[in-house]
Amino acid sequence: MALDLTEYVASIPDYPEKGIIFRDISPLMADGEAYKQATAQIVQFAHDKGVEMIVGPEARGFIVGCPVAYELGVGFAPARKKGKLPRETVKAEYKLEYGTSALYMHKDAVKPGQRVLVTDDLLATGGTISATIDLVEQLGGIVVGCAFIIELNALEGRKKIKNYDVLSLMNY
Ligand code: IMP
Repeated sequence: MALDLTEYVASIPDYPEKGIIFRDISPLMADGEAYKQATAQIVQFAHDKGVEMIVGPEARGFIVGCPVAYELGVGFAPARKKGKLPRETVKAEYKLEYGTSALYMHKDAVKPGQRVLVTDDLLATGGTISATIDLVEQLGGIVVGCAFIIELNALEGRKKIKNYDVLSLMNY
């Protein structure tokens, strides 16, 4: 019997600011069966697309992407914040509510023509995942899909990535 994964998401009102409901996947990760089911659903999506590499932004993109990479027998490359990667990098900036932020990847992290799945725990405005996609494409990778545990519909992140195939396991 499939589990109802919504039972493994904690919803925290007024965090990190008043009026925001924070969706926390740590109960899902802490439960072996729930984590396995979520991973299996993304593996199926990725397998059907002939994915050759997974890329996820720090830090929860790693938690979602690494078990999928392991299961498929493909590699994983991180997109990281400033100052974390020791070799030559490419950079993509994205907007935050106040100001901007940036993600980086090693220049050799993705090979030209490689079929890439990008993963994160949650799709909100789409800024983080758009920057991740930008990095993969700067390296010549082909983004064949984006997978999330949770999508927050009201923030319309899907509009920003409308040209890509998107899987969300849960919608709020
Ligand atoms: P976006 O860039 O606006 O799409 O925000 C998505 C990024 O912010 C992801 O990397 C998430 O980990 C994080 N994030 C935003 N809102 C939440 C939330 O409610 N729960 C957990 N992570 C969140």
